[in-house]
Amino acid sequence: MNYKDTIAAIASSSKNGSISVIRVSGPQALFGVSQIFRKKNGEIIDLTAKESHTIHYGYIFDGKEEIIDQVIVLVMKAPRSYTTEDVVEIQCHGGSLICQLILEELLHHEIRIAEPGEFTKRAFLNGRIDLSQAESVMDLIQADSQLALHNSLNQLRGNVREKIEELRQVILTDIAFVEAALDDPEHLSLDGYVDQIQNHGQELLEKINHLIHNFENGKIIKEGIQTAIVGKPNVGKSSFLNCILREDRAIVTDIAGTTRDTLEEEVRIGSTLLRLIDTAGIRSTADQIEQIGIEKAKESIEKSDFVICILDSSKDLEKEDLEVLEEASQKPGVILLNKIDLDSRLEGQEIPFSQGKKIMSFSALEGHGLSELEDYLNQLFIQDKIDYNDEIYITNMRQKEALYSARDSLLQLLETIQAGMPEDLFTIDMQNAYESLGLIIGQTIEDDIVDKIFKDFCMGK
Ligand code: GDP
Repeated sequence: MNYKDTIAAIASSSKNGSISVIRVSGPQALFGVSQIFRKKNGEIIDLTAKESHTIHYGYIFDGKEEIIDQVIVLVMKAPRSYTTEDVVEIQCHGGSLICQLILEELLHHEIRIAEPGEFTKRAFLNGRIDLSQAESVMDLIQADSQLALHNSLNQLRGNVREKIEELRQVILTDIAFVEAALDDPEHLSLDGYVDQIQNHGQELLEKINHLIHNFENGKIIKEGIQTAIVGKPNVGKSSFLNCILREDRAIVTDIAGTTRDTLEEEVRIGSTLLRLIDTAGIRSTADQIEQIGIEKAKESIEKSDFVICILDSSKDLEKEDLEVLEEASQKPGVILLNKIDLDSRLEGQEIPFSQGKKIMSFSALEGHGLSELEDYLNQLFIQDKIDYNDEIYITNMRQKEALYSARDSLLQLLETIQAGMPEDLFTIDMQNAYESLGLIIGQTIEDDIVDKIFKDFCMGK
């Protein structure tokens, strides 16, 4: 696809970094940048005459012939660039002000500001990357945990495409054979081939189910685990919170919640990202004992994927503990016997409503039990399922829905075969499965979906 527009944006993300990058892509990129890029004495540096993949040193001048900044310019000529168009990258100094000034100058030379994700959209539409790779660029930008990062890189390398292509190829071969045999029954016979289609259908189904299953893990990798910390007043919830937050120096963000005034904190335990729900509630009610109640715990548990249930092990269980435990029993989680540094009354005791939950001794005060908790969570969420090398994780809803619809078509195919229906009906189901799988890598994607996906991107990517 040939775009007429030349686009530019700040491609580096950090506002405080020492170097920023402005990326320019399109037919006007070389000429446009040459209009403002000079030697110190003002002599023009003509980038259109330079070789691809070369680096040039000079100064960016504004319209009043004043120097804005000393820069390094990289030239990547079509088609050997990310977008497959002529691309120029300007490395300038630090802050966003200089970047803004340079961008403004570029706008005077038939270059416009890129929309979010537009570079990657061009890379996709020009065939440089497939859709799963494009989406992984977005994931990469937003990756919060090591595993998410690894997974995005895996997708970016095209592992998803390879896997999906492999599945599609099997279907395509079968479709082609059935159609050919129906066209030319004298030379090609479908005898026995139906069994093969059935076997292929079953194998594909298994593989797709596996990918769907991985989605849940993928979601956990990417988005983290919604975690509720519950317990009656004074068991040590806020101490526990402080304990894990202090331990993990890389608190990612404090995001002001979209609902009410809740604060969501993220903490990385090993390679697992926990999203702690309603921590503001825990903190603000620490001194107001009567306010925190079972209602609050209920709400948090409902929103969570995982519950950390805290008990004060130095005291006997009370009615409120039992209420919290019962409420928590509907979700997976752990039970922490906190204050284990004091005389314990609960250790070795049977804890009601604890089925399926691991019970661990803990001391928020001394940090005891934290590394065991960390090991346990890693084992629980990550297990051995993640093979760093070649396991494929479908991580977004769009891809997952496409997998579901491919699975439905395959189930339909198997039913059609079992019901002894005519062969020409097989190809309909096979084609549907083929197309659904194609959606994952953008083979049959509609324009509006493409637009939607790329709008979610960050500027400059
Ligand atoms: P919350 O109401 O559940 O948030 O409980 P807090 O975290 O405010 O703790 C209540 C009291 O228990 C405070 O005085 C804490 O210092 C104390 N506490 C919390 N964890 C421990 C622990 O592991 N050992 C001991 N000895 N005291 C603790």
